[in-house]
Amino acid sequence: MAHSSRKEKPLRPATKILTEGFDPHLSLGSARPAVFRSSTYVFDSPEAAEHAFDVTSGRAKLREGEGSNLIYSRFNHPNAEMLEDQIVNLEKGSTAALAFNCGMAAIVTSLFTFLRPGQSIIYTIPIYGGTQHFIQDCLSQWGIVGIPVLSGDSDRINRAIRSAKKLAVVLLETPANPTLIMTDIKEVCDSVSQLKIPKGVTRPLVMVDNTMLGPSFQHPLVLGADLVLYSGTKYLSGFSDLLAGIALARHRDLIRRIRSTRGLFGTILQPDECWMLAGRLPTVRLRMDKSSIDAQRIAERLAEHTKIQRVLYPTLFTDPEQKRIYQAQCDYPGGMLSLELKGGKREAFNFLRHLKIARNAVSLGGVETLACHPKTTTHSGFTEAEFVEAGVTDGLVRISVGIEHWRDLLDDFEQALAAA
Ligand SMILES: *Cc1c(COP(=O)(O)O)cnc(C)c1O
Repeated sequence: MAHSSRKEKPLRPATKILTEGFDPHLSLGSARPAVFRSSTYVFDSPEAAEHAFDVTSGRAKLREGEGSNLIYSRFNHPNAEMLEDQIVNLEKGSTAALAFNCGMAAIVTSLFTFLRPGQSIIYTIPIYGGTQHFIQDCLSQWGIVGIPVLSGDSDRINRAIRSAKKLAVVLLETPANPTLIMTDIKEVCDSVSQLKIPKGVTRPLVMVDNTMLGPSFQHPLVLGADLVLYSGTKYLSGFSDLLAGIALARHRDLIRRIRSTRGLFGTILQPDECWMLAGRLPTVRLRMDKSSIDAQRIAERLAEHTKIQRVLYPTLFTDPEQKRIYQAQCDYPGGMLSLELKGGKREAFNFLRHLKIARNAVSLGGVETLACHPKTTTHSGFTEAEFVEAGVTDGLVRISVGIEHWRDLLDDFEQALAAA
């Protein structure tokens, strides 16, 4: 789809998201995009059909002035293109994007594109449960070696990067969920770029699951990462009413390769969801700013509470290395916090039971505040050793702060603590 070309001062993401990536002329002049629910597209001639298939399978390139190549909606459709053209405006350093029908679809499709039997993937733990399950229990059956390394432990990650055999991908999730431990993205990228790569072998790719702080507060592509992945289900969509996934890259070539896998797997996002998600993008910054400001107020006040052991939140980090990474890597601390209650599981459950505003649900990044007990829900697949190593304790409650008034939320947490 059309991009307006600007020679003037580059615009900031908040402006670009409203001015670039959507051409009203391609939607009959409509100020908002039309929804194209078609599964198939009509060709002008058999020659045009032949050319379209040549382009899609990589045998030919799009001709000068040829905007798009529409064949069949498992490969591509206008609402996915519009969403992709718009979202690159939000992710600093990105040149191309792909929309998927959920975050796991983005992760699975991207990993399958670049990993081959015999190769290895380094990943930080704790990582999203589905991602861990996929690497440990699915990729392993295809002869792909998963190498877990503890989030934030730069020395161990660097050693793993240097010693892994046939390393193809380094996948970081930072901050880690639910402990918010941060991994230094730039250091990992530098470490990968310093590897001596034999001729004919491709350099390992650095992928970052940026769901927690991106695209507003953390910019992995600017720090040297190759690919950024999202569960668009969370902050990007923001209303807990749709599933989506996004991949964004510095280089178009990576996106071209993942697109081909997406066409095969059928993991593209459907037109209606693309349209909904595109409409949410201009407010991502407003929603994330608001929940970050309020989460910080709440976290810093609850840190003093007598029933709370500690509050896990970036502005409350005590480890100097974690403080350094946070300051170097993130613009704001974000809307996620975790509370460690003194009484363990019983107190944590009672706290959740007594909440009146915050709802007891997994997921995050919505306008409504959600709270859950990671050890028995999102992270219940961990082994005892993994719980200890990752710091997921019995008393831990994870909170995704929404956009309600923060004083009402604080009152709610305080009354639930009093009752717990
Ligand atoms: C939710 C989530 C995912 C998975 O996304 P879905 O949209 O549920 O498939 C992946 N990574 C992180 C960090 C998540 O929070």
